[in-house]
Amino acid sequence: MSQTPDHLFERARLSIPGGVNSPVRAFRSVGGTPVFFDSAAGAWLTDSAGRRYVDYVGSWGPMLVGHTHLEVVAAVQAAAAKALSFGAPTEAETELAELLRSLVPSLELVRLLCSGTEATMTALRLARGYTGRSLIVKFQGCYHGHSDGLLVKAGSGALTFGNPSSAGVPAEIAALTLVCDYNDTAQIEQLFAARGEEIAGVIVEPVAGNMNLVLPRPGFLEALRALCDRHGALLIFDEVMTGLRVAPGGAQARYGIRPDLTTLGKVIGGGLPLAALGGRRDIMEKLAPLGPVYQAGTLSGNPIAVAAGLATLKLAAAPGFQAGVEAYAAQLVAGLVAEAKRAGVAFCAQSVGSMFGLYFRSTPPTSFAEVMQSDVARFNRFFHAMLARGIYLAPSAFEAGFVSAAHGEAELAATLAAAREAFGEQA
Ligand SMILES: *Cc1c(COP(=O)(O)O)cnc(C)c1O
Repeated sequence: MSQTPDHLFERARLSIPGGVNSPVRAFRSVGGTPVFFDSAAGAWLTDSAGRRYVDYVGSWGPMLVGHTHLEVVAAVQAAAAKALSFGAPTEAETELAELLRSLVPSLELVRLLCSGTEATMTALRLARGYTGRSLIVKFQGCYHGHSDGLLVKAGSGALTFGNPSSAGVPAEIAALTLVCDYNDTAQIEQLFAARGEEIAGVIVEPVAGNMNLVLPRPGFLEALRALCDRHGALLIFDEVMTGLRVAPGGAQARYGIRPDLTTLGKVIGGGLPLAALGGRRDIMEKLAPLGPVYQAGTLSGNPIAVAAGLATLKLAAAPGFQAGVEAYAAQLVAGLVAEAKRAGVAFCAQSVGSMFGLYFRSTPPTSFAEVMQSDVARFNRFFHAMLARGIYLAPSAFEAGFVSAAHGEAELAATLAAAREAFGEQA
């Protein structure tokens, strides 16, 4: 018996907090009832009632080659038929580590884990274990998963200790994380001048994709590199989202910065739970069993996830792949901007690699404060107008969008036709 989303959501809420297993899925920000999905193929999703949508969420990033790609599904099926898990080494794990190292040369050694949260949490422990220091610097609006030390927002002044951004995070733990403004070089220079000798590491999304999409200002990432070098702190690029999206070698390849540590996730598992932490050999050798910094995982390097990741990365690293997804993202953005202009709606958009940002304001934001100034009510109306026309955007004005290699002419035409009507309703 097929059930409507309302019924499914009602039922889910009886057994699952808020009816969802990750909060943004609940549609709290845009209002309404979340869509329950049943299947996906290429660029398209099918919901529980059989309606189809062009997908611009891509499972929040992983589905770079498109949904249920034949080669990825075949690799997963073949792996599953051999073993679901060993909890012991396999050759495929080494093959994946080798492939990641060839794509991202700063990964001299790489450890596989199960989630981005785990990767960033371990990166902080490793930075502290390596430097013998306690403080971490992060940027307001960057998301690095939900470990205690990273659910922290700015305190009252720029150079004060961070405050918990979630209940349950002890103030004592939040106080070890200092929060700066993204793209504000002068501010972090001031922070390092005051406390540089106590800072173990700086963690940053080199392209910010968790406060909509914010590009690094020219010189910002270079300044972080120079500050960390001068003060003996580690530079951690959280490329869980940007890895394989901004360029095959991640944002570090696109912007020419070599971080000390890098976290990867999302695309590298092709839709299965897989993440990685890698970087300088002398730092990575501090991880157990070689060194004193402990990290472990029952399902780390799980053969099914590794098979999906390997198949996905082989497709995504092929010549011409990146150019194809970049071209679609650029055409999408240009088309949406043209439709908004036609309707007289204050709107802009930009893309980098296969990621894009939509903004109900006249210029792309360069800071968290500017992101917060965008017109959320307008985005929410636009979101629902697009959803009603079969276009699935991220259900929040503060998320980046993603395209896949399966998006083509037909999907672009369908999206822009829907946008023409959706912007028309806004005017
Ligand atoms: C998604 C994300 C994470 C968290 O990854 P999970 O697999 O959801 O734990 C961390 N950092 C960034 C930049 C992300 O986009």
